[in-house]
Amino acid sequence: APDREELTWELFGRAERELSAQIVASGWVPDLIIAIARGGLIPAGAIGYAIGIKAMGAINVEFYTGVGQTLEEPVVLPPLMDASDLPGKKVLVVDDVADSGKTLKMVMELLQHRGLDLGGETVAVDARSAVIYRKPRSIFAPDYCWRVTDKWINFPWSVLPVITPSSLDQEGTDQLDERVGR
Ligand code: 5GP
Repeated sequence: APDREELTWELFGRAERELSAQIVASGWVPDLIIAIARGGLIPAGAIGYAIGIKAMGAINVEFYTGVGQTLEEPVVLPPLMDASDLPGKKVLVVDDVADSGKTLKMVMELLQHRGLDLGGETVAVDARSAVIYRKPRSIFAPDYCWRVTDKWINFPWSVLPVITPSSLDQEGTDQLDERVGR
């Protein structure tokens, strides 16, 4: 079996505080936070609370269809975000991991091209990015990063099986406790 990097809920609690401290220490304060859904939603919410930012948005991007299985390129899916407020703002983009780096690179370029043209003068979007993990092969260097690993990462929000009506009877609390290590 391939070696995995296991992020538990408890370790995630430390990761989001340390990543948030990095952002605050840099002296750059975002006006709003944009999560790359779904992987970046939980990290983005945690960072929002940790640094006291309430303005949150999300952009829905799909790239991975399974462990190591990807589409050709990341694609933006509905619901689409209204980006008309972004020019002139400081925007923190949050994802779980920059692996190939293609997703983050695409989103950062998208935002940078959303600059508003005001009579010859372009009002830029000041965008920075934060991830919990970065892989060494990433073609994009995030501004803030908690750890670097070349392993496949198990995130606590996606490691358990999806709950369906037919799995409910087996999903007793004992078994759930066992799976999450309580
Ligand atoms: P990238 O475009 O940088 O290759 O990866 C984009 C997305 O793929 C990540 O936001 C994440 O949702 C998923 N992904 C990439 N590597 C991993 C990994 O090691 N573990 C998990 N669980 N998801 C990953």
